[in-house]
Amino acid sequence: MSHSPEDVARYVCGDCQLVHAGIPRRTATGKRSFDAPETCGGCGGDELIPVQNWVHHHNGE
Ligand SMILES: [Zn+2]
Repeated sequence: MSHSPEDVARYVCGDCQLVHAGIPRRTATGKRSFDAPETCGGCGGDELIPVQNWVHHHNGE
């Protein structure tokens, strides 16, 4: 287990701001990537925004 927490993509719910870990997925080329959860576990919303975009979103306003 040498995974660092920084490797895990995180997604923020656009409605309730709950943070979700991305769902790990291995691509055909062996690279790791993450899928956003389909729905928020808190409010059931389906607008999951990657954390890096979320920060950007707030800085840009
Ligand atoms: Zn939510």
